[in-house]
Amino acid sequence: MRDLVSLPKANLHVHLEDAIRPETLAEIAASHGVRLPASMPITDSASFFAAHDIARNCLQTFADFYRIAVEYCADEAAQGTSYAEVSFTAAGHGERLGDMEMPLRAVLEGLGQGQADHGLQTRLLLDHSRRRPVERAWATLRLAESHADKGVVALGLSGPEAHPGDPFVAVFRAARAAGLHVVHHAGEAAGPASIRQAITTGSAERLGHGIRVLDDDELTAQVRTLGIPLEVCPNSNVLLDLAPSLAEHPLPRLLDAGLAVTVNTDIPAMTGVGLAEEYRLLQEAFGYSDSVIAGLARAGVRASFAPADLQAQLLAGIDDWERA
Ligand SMILES: [Zn+2]
Repeated sequence: MRDLVSLPKANLHVHLEDAIRPETLAEIAASHGVRLPASMPITDSASFFAAHDIARNCLQTFADFYRIAVEYCADEAAQGTSYAEVSFTAAGHGERLGDMEMPLRAVLEGLGQGQADHGLQTRLLLDHSRRRPVERAWATLRLAESHADKGVVALGLSGPEAHPGDPFVAVFRAARAAGLHVVHHAGEAAGPASIRQAITTGSAERLGHGIRVLDDDELTAQVRTLGIPLEVCPNSNVLLDLAPSLAEHPLPRLLDAGLAVTVNTDIPAMTGVGLAEEYRLLQEAFGYSDSVIAGLARAGVRASFAPADLQAQLLAGIDDWERA
């Protein structure tokens, strides 16, 4: 068994606001006189969104956003992550705080510092919750466009999948036309219809989660033929009760179906599981060989929006790991 920290890995689905160290969140909350609940047990999507909202609302100043971005890089690098596409709800924070640009500028600066300190590469994906108005999705697109040269590569829908993607079709068409990438959460809690919407009128190039594609054989074949990668987040799915246990997680069936399966952390502050640990737990649950593990890591790199030369460098690193 090779060491999984030294395996070059890409994390394509991780929310900055759900990756804050608990002690940092407590300090930031205290600095603003916000009292956090003594405990926030997460057992399903509803309790997750409640905890997510509490964490999000603690963040108020440039220094708060900058700090969580720097610390995120340190924690991700400690897991041996070489490249991360980090999700951040820039427009939501901007509207809440009455300064559209500040939270995004702070996070970009923090990621820049964190990259310099810890040697990983990051890009930013701006997410928009489906439960929020279309006007904010347009504001998200404007932020993405005006910061595309600073590392914002994509945008997409997050939030409760009971809210349909249809109202946002024009926003994401415009995003693609502007040269941005589009990734939606779909097929996590909701069924095949959410995936169909995401990859057709929704303009998505990748699926956040997408695990429920298996509910529909025809759709599975379509996603395979189109080569649309799935950002699978096993321990998040177990925590939010979308899979009964890791041993019963659909990841092996997604692989057997010939789909492009990537491994990601989604909400590491809540699961307590970093990226190397996600791989380790999969190896343990399914008895995967190092070559299967290397294949999952390669899929993550290939599904990324990293430039070709960086992808080639990461893939060469995975080959070296497997040969070692
Ligand atoms: Zn997510």
